[in-house]
This record gives sequence, structure tokens and C-alpha cells, in this order.
Amino acid sequence: MTAKISRFLDEVQPPTPCLVVDLDIIRDNYLSIRRWLPLAEVYYAVKANPESAIVAMLAGMGSNFDVASPAEIDLCLAAGAAADNISYGNTIKKKVDIAYAHAKGVRLFAFDSEAELEKLAEVAPGSRVFCRILMTCDGAEWPLSRKFGCEVDMARNLLIRARDLGLDPYGVSFHVGSQQTDLAQWDIAVGKTAMLFTALNEAGIDIRMVNLGGGLPARYRTDVPGVDRYAGAIMDAMTRHFGNNLPAMIIEPGRGLVGDAGVLESEIVLISRKGYDEDVRWVYLDVGKFGGLAETMDEAIKYRITTPRDADAAGPVCLAGPTCDSADILYEKAGYHMPVTLKVGDRVRILTTGAYTSSYSSVNFNGFEPLKTYVI
Ligand SMILES: *Cc1c(COP(=O)(O)O)cnc(C)c1O
Repeated sequence: MTAKISRFLDEVQPPTPCLVVDLDIIRDNYLSIRRWLPLAEVYYAVKANPESAIVAMLAGMGSNFDVASPAEIDLCLAAGAAADNISYGNTIKKKVDIAYAHAKGVRLFAFDSEAELEKLAEVAPGSRVFCRILMTCDGAEWPLSRKFGCEVDMARNLLIRARDLGLDPYGVSFHVGSQQTDLAQWDIAVGKTAMLFTALNEAGIDIRMVNLGGGLPARYRTDVPGVDRYAGAIMDAMTRHFGNNLPAMIIEPGRGLVGDAGVLESEIVLISRKGYDEDVRWVYLDVGKFGGLAETMDEAIKYRITTPRDADAAGPVCLAGPTCDSADILYEKAGYHMPVTLKVGDRVRILTTGAYTSSYSSVNFNGFEPLKTYVI
């Protein structure tokens, strides 16, 4: 929690729930990624928080952008990014959307299948393309699983086919899983990528870029190593597997850039117990899974939560949102404790909510409005 956010919340007392994002933190995070990974070009994963003030500031600092849809392309262009600085990193695109991106000047595209490659060849001819390889995402708190990527032998054949289809087989990408807490995962990924480079070079393909994806963490309930440690692990892996012949590098931080920059303020709507003998209080907030806290699914992301009564004794709680869907429970098993003096109407602050919150909030479930964001 920065002094700037805390002052804003105290002075303005905006209606809850609301998200307050401090641009200074994002600027610092961007600079420290640049500082520790100077050889990698940063492509901000816009889906993490698509507020145009964030995109505009990053564009002004020289960032590039990883997008997933025409609307994200328009957002980046309107915020001052050039088409040259945009990567269409979604491996699942409609042909009309690829054509739209191409018409806007985007020339860098991801794929992980033959069918996607054929769409790209048809409506984005000559573009640079990179193939995403499959990762297990072990160690990630928000794994991206088997939905994305293909096996290395398939990636080899597809990148050769890309050349034959008139595309530029430019690189290889992976994503080790979001909120990745195991630094060794990058070594596995870079090792696979280097093997693929060798196979492609033997096939006469001038493959020349590694896209390191996302995975840089934010600080939730459990502490994580600093970006310097992540950068060290990544560069060790790169030099171990590529030696002096380093390819161009791209990194696509989402969570690691904006997660720490946000605080979500929420009001307690109800505190109750399920029976006279129950110790556990149920604390219902005015924000839940549908209001932006979707990453509490399976209690995967465990946010730190502060209250105005944190000096008092605490007892066990289950935390839930305000909607009429029983899936709208935030934490039942994660062992949250809150002050026993907590009252209905108290405001609580959910920390490190800058990433994957406002962009996940539903438009109107049960009549609740989408999460309002203040960028300061
Ligand atoms: C979501 C996404 C990212 C960002 O991942 P984080 O773990 O939030 O940094 C990067 N690259 C791609 C292709 C993504 O889909």
C-alpha cells in the first residue's frame, strides 16, 4: 500500500468497491525489469490491466504491447503505441481479427497450430510469426496449462511450414505459468527452446527470437523473490543454453508490472455464523469473484487484506462476495483470520489487486456494476 493510494482513499472516500492504481509503482516496476533484463524488449500483457492511462504511460516509456484482440490493438494505438510495437500473442484468433490487425500495421503474431498458421499466411502474408511451445506450468499459482502451445517436434515442423507459406519464422515463445514461484522453470523452458533452435538451424531456418512470456510475480500473502533474482535465473538459462550466440529476447510481464500497483477497497456487507456453535464467521464483502476477484478460483491467488482493526485479536473467517451465486466464495480453506471486532460497514483493503481484477469483473451480474478503477 503506497502513501499515495492510502491518501487518495482517505481523502476521496470513493464508493466501494473500487480499485486504485498507482502509476508510480508501474513505472518503477517497468524500470526495474528494464534494468535487470536490459537485453529483453518488454511487451506489456495488456489483459492484466487495460486502463488506457497505464498503456499510455508505458508507451511513453518505450514499452511494447502483447495483445489478444482487435479491441486491445485499438486501445494501444489510441494510447500512443505504434503498430510496430504490438505483438498479437493470442494463439486463438479469428481470421477477420488477424486481417484487422494486419490492416492496422501489426506484423508480429503468435501461433501454435497448423490451422492458425494457414490463417496467418492468408491474411497477414509476410508477417513475423513465433510458435508457442507447451509447458507444464509446475510451480505456477495461476497455471496456463495445456490450452496453449504445442510439442517441440510439432513446433519445428510448423516453423518450417511457416517459411514455405511465405511467413517469416521469427521465433519461439513459451509461458511458464503466471505467478511462477519456481525460478528453475525458465531453465527447462529455455533448454527446450534452444534444442528447437538447433533443429531449425539444421533445417535452414533463420530463427532468431525467444519470447520469454510472463510469469513474473506480484506480492500476495506469500513473499516472492525480487525481479533481480528472476532476471538472474532467466539470463543464466539463456547463457547456459545459447552460449555467446544470444537471440533477440522478448518478455511479456502482466502481473509483475501492474499487480503490486493496485489496492481494492471494499465494504463489509454482512458478518454472520452458520450455527450457534460455529467459531468461523462468514464475512461478506461488496466485491467477489464476479466483481473482479476471479483469481480466487480454487483459492489460487491469496490476496493480503487489511482492515481498520488489525491491532485487535483475530479469529477465523470465510470470505465471500455479495452475489447470489454459491461459487462467489473467495476463501473457505485458505485459513484467513480477521479481527473479532470487525463490523458491518467497515472498509477493508485488498492489496496487490492491480492485475487481473478490473478486466475480469462482470458487466452486470445480479445488477452489480463492473469494478471502477481510479488511476492516480
Ligand atoms: C497473460 C499473458 C502474459 C502475462 O502473464 P503474467 O504471468 O501476468 O506476466 C504474457 N504472455 C501471454 C501470451 C499471455 O497470454
